[in-house]
Amino acid sequence: AMFDGLSRSLEKAWDSVRKDGKLTVENIKGPLRDIRRALLEADVSLPVVRRFVARVEDEALGERVVKGVSPDQKLVKVVYEELKALMGGQQAELVQPKYGPSVILMAGLQGTGKTTAAGKLALYLKKRGMKVLLVATDVYRPAAIDQLVTLGSKIDVPVFELGNKVAPPEIARQGLEKAKKEEFDAVIVDTAGRLQIDEKLMEELRETKRVVNPTDTLLVVDAMTGQEAAGLVKSFNDAVDITGAVLTKMDGDSRGGAALSIKEVSGRPIKFVGTGEKMEALEPFFPDRMASRILGMGDVVSLVEKAEEAVNADEAAELAKRMMTAKFDFNDFLKQYKMVSGMGNLSSLVKMLPGMNKIQEKQIQEVERRYAQYESMINSMTKAEREQPELLAKSPSRRRRVAQGSGRSEEQVSELVAMFASMRAQMQTMSRMMALSGGAQGMA
Ligand code: GDP
Repeated sequence: AMFDGLSRSLEKAWDSVRKDGKLTVENIKGPLRDIRRALLEADVSLPVVRRFVARVEDEALGERVVKGVSPDQKLVKVVYEELKALMGGQQAELVQPKYGPSVILMAGLQGTGKTTAAGKLALYLKKRGMKVLLVATDVYRPAAIDQLVTLGSKIDVPVFELGNKVAPPEIARQGLEKAKKEEFDAVIVDTAGRLQIDEKLMEELRETKRVVNPTDTLLVVDAMTGQEAAGLVKSFNDAVDITGAVLTKMDGDSRGGAALSIKEVSGRPIKFVGTGEKMEALEPFFPDRMASRILGMGDVVSLVEKAEEAVNADEAAELAKRMMTAKFDFNDFLKQYKMVSGMGNLSSLVKMLPGMNKIQEKQIQEVERRYAQYESMINSMTKAEREQPELLAKSPSRRRRVAQGSGRSEEQVSELVAMFASMRAQMQTMSRMMALSGGAQGMA
C-alpha cells in the first residue's frame, strides 16, 4: 500500500542511531541519506527533498534532549514534526461562507476523478446535515453530466443541469440562483474538465469563479501522478487562485509523492483525499495522521509527548514499557489506570498505540465507567491470581470466591476476567507490532 516503501526505508534511518548516546553531526549523516533516498523514491521532487532534509538536520541537532528518549526516537519525532509541517501542519477545512450557501467549485483534468469527487463531497456534506445541490457544468467530457445525475440519484442529492449546449459559467450561475432561492446550504459545481491545461480551460474557470464567487475552489488531482500532481496544483493556483486540492486514488499503489509535495510546491493545502470508488470513500486530510501513518507508528509520538508532560515521567515510561512487553497483570492494571487517567482521557491514549486503533471504544469506556467495581474485585484476589490472570479464567471456584469477597456477582467477575484477557491479547499483538516496526519499544 501507499507509503509502505517509504516507511520501510525510514526504519533503516532509525536503526542506525538506535544504539548511540545522542544525535551528532557525524552519526546523523547516514540516516539523513536514508531519509533523502526514501523521499526521492516516494516521488517527492528534489528541491522539496533538499529543503526537508535540511530542516530535519537543523532540528535533530538543535533540539533539547528529552529524558528517556533515545536518539532514534528523537529522530523519529523530528521527522514526524517536519512531515506534518510539510503537509501543512493543520487540517485545512472548507471555507465557511459569511452568508448564503457554501459554493464549491470542483476543477481538474479529465480522468482524475473530479466528477466522482463532486459526488463524494456532496454525500460528505449531506451526512453533516447540509442541504446540498450538485451543478453539472462539465459539458465537454461525453456523459459527464449523465454520470453526475446518476451519482446524485444514488446519494439522493439533486443535480442541476442544462444539458451540454449552454456555456458552463451560465449553468453555474443558474444553479446558484436556484440554490439561493431554495435555501440550500451548499452548492458543488462540477466544472468543465479537459485533457490538459490550456488557456481556454483556465479562462472558463476564471469566468465561472467570477460569476458564482465560490467559497472554495478545489483542484482534483490524481495521487498516481506523484510530483506531477503538485506541479498541477501550482499551475492552477497561479492561474486561477484555488483554495486547496482533493487528492484522489490514495487507495491505489502510488508512492505518496503527491501527498507530500502539494503544499510545499503550490502553497495550497490538501483538503480531502479520495480512497476508493465508492461514494463514501472521501476523507478530510489530516497532516498529523498522515505523518504518523507514513512512519508506520500509530501515534506514539503524541504518547511520548504526553508522557513527557506527565508529573511522573519515570512512572509513565514504566507503564509504556510494561504495556509494550505485554507483561501487564492485574496489579499493573490498578496502579497504572490511576496514572493513565491522570495523563488524560484513557481511550485517546490507548488509541495512540500502534495496533490499538482497532480496540473498541465501547470496551475502553466500559473500563472507565466500571473502574471502582474492578478495583474491589481485584482487591479480593490472591497475589497469585493478580499476577496470573489465567488462574481465574480456568477456575469457577476462584471466581466465586472473588465474587463473595468483593460483594459482586460471579458474572461480574467473569466479565472482568474476559475483558482483561482481551486487553492483554491486544497488548500482545501490539507489542509484536512494535517489535516489527522497531521504532518505539525503547521508548521507556
Ligand atoms: P473525471 O473525468 O475527472 O470526472 O473522472 P471520474 O470522476 O469519472 O473518475 C475517473 C475514474 O476514476 C472512475 O473510474 C472513478 O471510479 C475512478 N476514481 C475516482 N476517484 C477514485 C478513488 O479515490 N479511488 C479509486 N480507486 N478510483 C477512483
